Amino acid sequence: MELKQLLDFIALEDDRLKLQYGHPDETKRILARTVKITEELGELSNEVLAFHSMQRKEKMDNHTKETLHEEVADVLITTLLLAKTLNMDIEKVLEAKIEKINKRHETATPSNTI
Ligand SMILES: [Mg+2]
Repeated sequence: MELKQLLDFIALEDDRLKLQYGHPDETKRILARTVKITEELGELSNEVLAFHSMQRKEKMDNHTKETLHEEVADVLITTLLLAKTLNMDIEKVLEAKIEKINKRHETATPSNTI
């Protein structure tokens, strides 16, 4: 999948969510989408714990590699929806961040060398 396809889906989903939940002001949408990321991150955390058998027995049902992967996707999608609400050019922001991270590694001195 190309980034453009993903961002086209995010734009479509953004429109659908605005129709589904009405058009609250932008600040409310930003807050709601930030909370939604937290909800999805909790679901991902639950999947990770269950996938590694670190949950109580009663919470261990219906967790698979697929449900774990779905929750990773939910976190990405909800994060991209927040980025859209913040009117970010996510492609440019990601490029700049990747460059920053790469430079950090290029200039870092390995701490585990003698
Ligand atoms: Mg989810």
